[in-house]
This record gives sequence, structure tokens and C-alpha cells, in this order.
Amino acid sequence: MAEATSGRSEEEFQDLLRRLELALEASQIGVWQHNVNDQELLWDPQMHRLYGTGRRSARVASDVWMNALHPEDLDRAISDFQIALEGKGFYNSQFRIILPSGEVRHLRSRAHYYEDADGSPSFIGAEWDVTADVLLNRELASQKAIAEARAIALEQSRTRIEHAADHDYLTGLPNRRYFDRRLAELRRDTSVETVGVVHIDLDGFKEINDKWGHAAGDATLQSAAARISGAITANDVVARIGGDEFVAALVNVGNAEKLEAIANDIFSRLRREVRFGNEMLRIGASIGVALSQTGSAGNLLAESDVALFQAKKLGRNRVEFFTPKLQADLQAERRLADELRLAPMLRQIEPFYQIQVDAHTRCIVGLEALARWRHPERGLLNPAAFLKVADEYGLTAEIDAAVLKCALADRAAWMSQGLSPPRIAVNISGRRLADPDLIEGLQALRIPRQAIAFELVETIFLDDPDARVLANIAGIKEMGIDIEIDDFGSGHASLLGLVRLKPKRLKIDRQLVTAVTMSDEQRRLVGSIVEIARALNVEVVAEGVETEDHARVLAEVGCDELQGYAIGYPSSESEIAALLKSVRATRRRRSPRAPAGAGAGATGSARRRSERN
Ligand code: C2E
Ligand code: MG
Ligand code: MG
Repeated sequence: MAEATSGRSEEEFQDLLRRLELALEASQIGVWQHNVNDQELLWDPQMHRLYGTGRRSARVASDVWMNALHPEDLDRAISDFQIALEGKGFYNSQFRIILPSGEVRHLRSRAHYYEDADGSPSFIGAEWDVTADVLLNRELASQKAIAEARAIALEQSRTRIEHAADHDYLTGLPNRRYFDRRLAELRRDTSVETVGVVHIDLDGFKEINDKWGHAAGDATLQSAAARISGAITANDVVARIGGDEFVAALVNVGNAEKLEAIANDIFSRLRREVRFGNEMLRIGASIGVALSQTGSAGNLLAESDVALFQAKKLGRNRVEFFTPKLQADLQAERRLADELRLAPMLRQIEPFYQIQVDAHTRCIVGLEALARWRHPERGLLNPAAFLKVADEYGLTAEIDAAVLKCALADRAAWMSQGLSPPRIAVNISGRRLADPDLIEGLQALRIPRQAIAFELVETIFLDDPDARVLANIAGIKEMGIDIEIDDFGSGHASLLGLVRLKPKRLKIDRQLVTAVTMSDEQRRLVGSIVEIARALNVEVVAEGVETEDHARVLAEVGCDELQGYAIGYPSSESEIAALLKSVRATRRRRSPRAPAGAGAGATGSARRRSERN
């Protein structure tokens, strides 16, 4: 019975062993045994296959294993084994081996400590190939690292994009978007009591760009950014909001005096020269300042802009504070500018004419066309009421053009009535004179030769003339239009301009003319202007001739022509038509064959019919 049982057990044991071998073979797990005192290993065939030994003997010297180990893993694998041995416990390790073919294989090894029948320490363990797992894990890890690196790069570029969207690339300062957001935050922030805004526009920046190139312009902007930043605290913010425009918001700045001190500091910092290579560049700044005491930063930017506008208007290079009156004035001015912009199109701009006479014969030799604005509500306006605004808003060129067109139409109408209008002088602004399309526009008007003269109002720029202006002046002369210098001696027109320009005539300024009867000195002054003009072959017109005394003295010192209230007031088209008719009648009465314009004094009649301004 016992034998039968043990026989069955033996059979069962054999069966179990076979199944175990099959399972091991299928799993490709190698089994090993190690008697530590023997320095010998027992390997099953699968172990030999794992190590690629090509041998089959079960006994293997322990240095076969050690020699197969990857040198980088050797120490760790041995130390793992030592630890298990000392602890008489579980051995668990993973290492690389190098096969005789040179192939590297990753093995996982696990073993159990036990003591042999003779008590010597031993391990029995299993080992299997985990190369595929390791490679897969490594691949996964590298994919993960790539994914993480991508995520970091993405995050970095997102912050970069966000920064770029909020900042100016050149100076690194925040931009308008950021600044608006910050102002909105300040408005909500209850801990903020006062906010000051300093609005800065660099003066002379365009000139630096034009003269020294863009690199110099960039350097100037960068230096301005650094200087403004240097004048404010870390709580404040400064932004670049336009080409050469900066704005700073000062948080809890206190009162107007403190704000003004900071604005002045920024102003003087900006006025210091900027080094560019070997050059020292000079700029200035117009600054507008606004302060909110209540903590509401609502209109501050608009208000500082109004103040800035005022600073520019007052001649730039200065600091101006916002006031409600400033705003009201500006609004009124803007309304006027809006109306004025439409005025030429609505035919509200028309010329009045003031006659010019020969200083000796008093015959009419010319008319000056003077702009008037027939305003629908305010009536007839003189240039004093609108020219300044026109100039500030860049509308003078349109007004000049409208006056010229009307003058040509009036002239044509007078001719068609059989009248002989003299040459008509129209005023031309510097802006129009610099217009690249000027000559083309004039050609389209088919202006008869010698019919028109242009009075240059601002001639100061002729000291440093623009090539385009000079080309336009040459073009104008070629078209048979005389060039005259207006207000000579007023400071606007210079002698240098006179020599450069070679005008047909110059008009002595009213102020010199009125003084001519007061002192010999003044008379000599006008006399020497006449002499210079003579030397340059330039005719002289005296304007602002208010009395008969003036007229006499001016004729004596050699002026060729006279214009002024003593001769005639600026008059409407119809009044001039009537005057020209009476001249014609007088001429016919005196001598039917007399040349046009000759022999007809104009003094009395023009004065009676004219506007008094
Ligand atoms: P201006 O060209 O020097 O014109 C002479 C100005 O002096 C005119 O003023 C005229 O009415 C005034 N005037 C004439 N005789 C006398 C006088 O005896 N005494 C005094 N006190 N004044 C006299 P107005 O028409 O008000 O024009 C003022 C200025 O406006 C002109 O000075 C001219 O610079 C400018 N202007 C007039 N029309 C135009 C225009 O169509 N275009 C441009 N750009 N400027 C114009
Ligand atoms: Mg004039
Ligand atoms: Mg004048």
C-alpha cells in the first residue's frame, strides 16, 4: 500500500517534473543553482541559451557568469548578490550581459537562499530575458521625454507669444494693449488713491531717423525707454504706444506737484544727448500730464493726450498739464477743423481781393486774393479765425487750392465781361509748396502765363530748402507764375531765402511799412531793403499802406507798388468787377487808345466799396 502510494508519488513527481520542464522551456526561463563555497554554478540548458555559451554541461565556473556581465553592471550585480547572501534572503537583480557574438542582452535574475545538506550557503534561482521590455521601456521613456520637452517648448513659446503680444520688440517695454489692461486694473484696485499719466512724444526723432538712419533711430528709442524707466518706480508702468510715443502710469503718485516733478525729471533725462557710435544725438520731448485723485484712471490717457497736444501746440519741448478748459478749447477747435475740412468742398471758401497799385501812377497793377470763409452760422470769417486751426490740422493746402480755383474762375468771368483784370497774387503755404503733386495739379488748371503770382507765406524754410520745394518753385516759375516773398522783414523771410529763391517781387511787411513815417531810421531801413531788391532785380511791394503819408514816403524810397487800406480794402468779386468797370470807363473817357490798366487811379472807388477788417 505504502509502495503503491510512493510509486504513484514517484510517477506524479516525474509527471510534475516534466510539466515543469515544459513550462520552463516554453517560458524560456533559465534555472540556476549556486553553491557559494564551491564557486560553482549549475545551469540548465536554457541558461546556456540565454548566455549563448553553446555548451550544455550543467556545471559552470562562477567566473563564466562574471565574465559575461556587462562591465558597467558588474559591480552592482555582485553587490546585489552579496547583500542577499549576507541577509540570507531573496536575490533580485537586473543586469546586462554581453554574448560572445557581442550582442547585449538584459536579464532579470531572482533567487532564493537556502543551505545545502552539508550546510553550505546556496541559491536557487531563475533568470530570463527582459531585453524587449527594457527596450520598450526605454523607448517609452524617451517618447515621454520628447513629449515633455515638447510641452515645455510649447509652454515657452506660448509665454513668448504672450509676451510679444504685450511688449514692444525694440525696447522690451509693454505696449498699448498691456498698458490699457494695467490702467483698467488700477481703476478696479481700491488700494490705489491717485494715478498720474505722463504722455511723452519725442521731438526731433524723425530728423534723427532721416539723417542718421534707422539704427540711430532705434538706439534713440532704446535709450529713451531706459531713461523713462529709470525715472519711475517698480510699481509704475511705462509703455511704448507709438513710433516715438511713450506713456507712463504712476501709481499713488500723491499730488500734482509730485507728478510734475517726475514729469520734469523724465523731460530733462530725455533731453540729454544720446551716444550713437561717435555721434551725440540730440532729442527733446513734448510731455502731457494728467492726474486722477479719485483713483479712477478712466479718461487719464485721453486727458494726458490732450495735454500733450497742447504741449506740441505751444512749440514742443515742454511739459503741459491737463485742464478741463484745455479739453473744451480742443473740442471747439476740433469741431472747427471738422467744418473747415468740408468748407472747400461746400464752396464756403472764397477769395476777397485787395488791389495793388503802381507807387507812382497809382494805376492798378495787381490784386491779392485773400481767403474768406463764408461760415453758415458765423458769417464771413477772416483768416485770423481759421488759418491757425487749418495749419494745425493740415488743411491749408486745400484752402490755398480753393482760393486759386476761385480766383481763376473770377478772372475768367471778368474777362468774359470785357474787363482786363491785372495779375492776381494768391498765398501759398509751405505745406502746399512741399506737395509732390503740386505741379501736376497746377498744370490741370491751365493757368494763363503772367496771370497769377504766388506769395510764399513761410519762407523761413528756404534757409535749409527741401529738394522737392525747390523743384516745385522751379516748376511754378516755368509755368509763367511769378514767385513773391510775403511779409519780408517780419522775421519769417530771410535774406538768404531771397537770394536762393530769386523771386519776382518781395512784399515789405506791414510792421516796417507802418513805421516808415515815424523815424528816419525806419525809412532808411525800408530804403535799404529796396536797394538790396534792386541789386537782385526784384520788385518791391509795400503792404499795409494805411495812410496817404505812408504811400508818399514809400514811393519816395523807391517801392514799386503799394497795397493797403489807404489804397483799397479787401473786396468781394462783384466789388472788384465794378471797380474794373469804372477803371475801363475812365480810361475810355480819357483816351480811347490808352493801354490796359494805365492812367486809372483806384484809390477812392475801391476804398468806398470795400470790406473793413
Ligand atoms: P498777407 O498775405 O500778408 O495779407 C495781407 C493781410 O493784411 C490781409 O489780412 C489784409 O486784409 C491785411 N491788410 C491789408 N492792408 C492792410 C492795412 O493797410 N492795414 C492792416 N492792418 N492790414 C492790412 P487777411 O486777409 O486777414 O489775411 C491775413 C493773412 O492770412 C495773410 O496775410 C496771409 O498770410 C494769410 N492768408 C490769407 N489768405 C490766404 C490763403 O488763401 N492761403 C494762405 N495760405 N494764407 C492766406
Ligand atoms: Mg499775402
Ligand atoms: Mg503779407
